[in-house]
Amino acid sequence: RVEFRHVVKDFGATRVLHGIDLDIQPGEFVSLLGPSGCGKTTALRVLAGLEQASGGSVLLGGQDVSGIPTNKRDIGMVFQAYSLFPHLRVVDNTAFGLRRRGVGRAAATKRAGDALDLVGLGHLADRFPHQLSGGQQQRVALARALVTEPRVLLLDEPLSALDAKVRVQLRDEIRRIQLRLGTTTVFVTHDQEEALAVSDRIAVMNAGRIEQIGSPEQLYLEPATPAVAAFVGLSS
Ligand code: ATP
Repeated sequence: RVEFRHVVKDFGATRVLHGIDLDIQPGEFVSLLGPSGCGKTTALRVLAGLEQASGGSVLLGGQDVSGIPTNKRDIGMVFQAYSLFPHLRVVDNTAFGLRRRGVGRAAATKRAGDALDLVGLGHLADRFPHQLSGGQQQRVALARALVTEPRVLLLDEPLSALDAKVRVQLRDEIRRIQLRLGTTTVFVTHDQEEALAVSDRIAVMNAGRIEQIGSPEQLYLEPATPAVAAFVGLSS
């Protein structure tokens, strides 16, 4: 379970998050959706421990994680830009988090192979990142994020660098894998179609606030504000 409790974030004199409240249930897939600059990435980075909140708190599994560094938060992350290590084979990229936690080479390689199978890339384990397509590289990034079996998966626009067809394929596959593993997932996107397609619930953000939280159907049929209606794609 993930809880944002009135999370505020200032960069210097600029308030970027104006008190975010959000309660995400175990196994839920929640999207943070909104236009560029509304604070989605900042909210995710606070959750990840990559930014410190200026006020409020973030809880993971009921525990306030404010002082806990990123690598101790039991999360997996995938970002927009391919963040694989260019000099490591796919299998070693995938095993990286396990090795860093002290898992032995043989066991880490085995688990990395299983994670790569999960994303359909077991047969490419010995390649280097530059020998893969963009979509394949993001699959490896997903395998790498999932290999430690994190309680929470954080996805920051993982599809935005991909072409349209691959984007839809990988989007649907992320959702399939997430449902199979039951991993609580927070997905940042500015693409309403993407959010509507994969989410249990969507938090629509605007200018550092959550305007509405609801299921795709709720947002579509009963937008709370004109901004939500406009952004989710229906204007009444
Ligand atoms: P995008 O989709 O464009 O990334 P976003 O909704 O994820 O947008 P954020 O990246 O969270 O938005 O940024 C929210 C605001 O905070 C923006 O106005 C941005 O310029 C500002 N901001 C983000 N990071 C910093 C920083 N390190 N220092 C100063 N301002 C920042």
